[in-house]
Amino acid sequence: MPNERSIDNDALLRGHGLHVTAQRLAVLRAVSHRPHSTADDISAVVRAEIGAISVQAVYDALATLTDRGLFRRIQPAGSAARYENRVGDNHHHLICRTCGRMVDVDCAVGDTPCLTAADDSGYEIDEAEVIYWGRCPACLATAPPVNPEQATQCKQR
Ligand SMILES: [Zn+2]
Ligand SMILES: [Zn+2]
Repeated sequence: MPNERSIDNDALLRGHGLHVTAQRLAVLRAVSHRPHSTADDISAVVRAEIGAISVQAVYDALATLTDRGLFRRIQPAGSAARYENRVGDNHHHLICRTCGRMVDVDCAVGDTPCLTAADDSGYEIDEAEVIYWGRCPACLATAPPVNPEQATQCKQR
């Protein structure tokens, strides 16, 4: 139902005080179809779809939509930032060290308990970010659990 979806997105943009533009709609669609994409991935999708848009314009739209709370930006250590449109909950992420695939994982204890730190040191906490690192099933299936490079190094020593 592409029409219904685009009407929703129009309302979503207006509801956040934003003008509805073809660029913003395309960025919204790209992120909702491919959550946890990098800005480069999203810009490739959007440019393939509507053509006449600069990479900078895609980046600007991402920044605006993130600022207005339509997107959440996740910045894993050593990786490009990822964007998703699942906002307003406190879900966490699993990242594969081998292929970089990122998936959602619900908070282990429910609601937003991670915002209640054992000791807040007087800070006003508004966000908790948990990233689990490991290897995805696909990567585990194609390689043995032990890193072969490490195994070779051990033999050489
Ligand atoms: Zn993987
Ligand atoms: Zn997510």
